[in-house]
Amino acid sequence: MKKIIPEPFKIKMVEPLKTTTREHREKALEEAGYNPFSLKSEDVYIDLLTDSGTGAMSDRQWSALMMGDESYAGSRNYYELLEVARELFGYTYIIPTHQGRGAEQVMFPNLVKKGQAVLGNMHFDTTKAHIELSGARAVNCVTDKAFDTMTPYDFKGDFDLEKLEKAIIEEDNGKNVAFILVTITCNSAGGQPVSMENTRKVKEMADKYGIRVFIDAARYAENAYFIKRREKGYENKSIREIILEQFSYGEGFAMSAKKDGIVNMGGLIGIKEDKDLYVACRSTLVPMEGFPTYGGLNGRDMAALAVGLVEGTEESYLEYRIGQVKYLGDRLMEAGIPIQHPTGGHAVFVDAKKMLPHIPYDQFPAQALANALYIESGVRGVEIGSFLLGRDPETKEQIESPLELLRLTIPRRVYTFAHMDVIADGLIKIKDKAQELKGLDFTYEPEVLRHFTARLKPVDKK
Ligand SMILES: *Cc1c(COP(=O)(O)O)cnc(C)c1O
Repeated sequence: MKKIIPEPFKIKMVEPLKTTTREHREKALEEAGYNPFSLKSEDVYIDLLTDSGTGAMSDRQWSALMMGDESYAGSRNYYELLEVARELFGYTYIIPTHQGRGAEQVMFPNLVKKGQAVLGNMHFDTTKAHIELSGARAVNCVTDKAFDTMTPYDFKGDFDLEKLEKAIIEEDNGKNVAFILVTITCNSAGGQPVSMENTRKVKEMADKYGIRVFIDAARYAENAYFIKRREKGYENKSIREIILEQFSYGEGFAMSAKKDGIVNMGGLIGIKEDKDLYVACRSTLVPMEGFPTYGGLNGRDMAALAVGLVEGTEESYLEYRIGQVKYLGDRLMEAGIPIQHPTGGHAVFVDAKKMLPHIPYDQFPAQALANALYIESGVRGVEIGSFLLGRDPETKEQIESPLELLRLTIPRRVYTFAHMDVIADGLIKIKDKAQELKGLDFTYEPEVLRHFTARLKPVDKK
């Protein structure tokens, strides 16, 4: 049942949104080569491209910005951030970085040897890239339930423990495994949570084979909220107690602070107690990110992050946040629109393959749906499917993605429930004329990371 959760804040500053006509949007999309990535943000009414760095900071965060200590070394804001993060995660060493991939590029080369495997539930794309850049292979061991969008399951981000153990045994009984990476929430599976029980069992299995566990921690608070709501035995624990327990099963973490940390730019490395690893990471940090007490961030950025890290764990905020995503998902489900179910933490994923069965994968049904939603309502979503996946590097054939999804990613504290209705109403209108939607062909296709800059046209358009 859909339910509005009243916002646990009031609005002190507003940013006007431009409303546009359908003709304007049709022209803007044509000029953007039918690729919403190339739209100007001022032509977008509701922007659901990402939840990364797009959140609204609080008055406390904005005032913390004014308290920035911009000293090159030993900034007061670094020590404040250190204290907050130590208390939140229970780790001794904390290193700031400019964003999540900054943490990855500093930490991973210090953890892997060439040719080793990194086993994860499902690796995020920049994470996979940095694992590969440091000479290792990224292997996914997520539960198959993650790929079954229509069947509900509380923890679709969980590891399949049988798959994990099989992968360990295949990698020379674990000797060839660099580490296990637990991504919370599991972004690529739809922001799906990982249960405490599963995290604990992953840790037990890692111990059995002498492997270390690390955490990809961008949505540490949203994951804790799901555990509190869905896992037996955690109903009466606080979000912070749950975070402390979950992080106790890891040796360290890499974090994009642009998600649950609610800042526009920032990242963190945390290391529980391994001083050698800390010293190694600190040495890598200097040439890549910056001096250890700022690591690519302004003093004021660290000040805002120290506040955001804690605000992101407030239960009233998380209830509203996760409730808003669920509200949008419930409205779509009630209208018979197929989505990844139940909804996860930061986005609703619409199953475009089910909604537009007449468009083949190599004409990109989810991209066609994203374009239709922009024309209908000025809403910008993003395709997660064959268009994103690209071609086989050897045969140059288009690969067929197992899922063709339109991701509607909700920024934190930015849009209201009325905006969710605009999004849902737009998709419901499209559903009624879904057969009229056309697939897409390339007019320009770059070789690497094509989805950012490719140009397309509807298949029936000259
Ligand atoms: C966003 C994200 C990253 C990368 O972080 P950036 O701040 O975008 O560099 C890594 N892992 C996960 C799970 C993420 O969601």
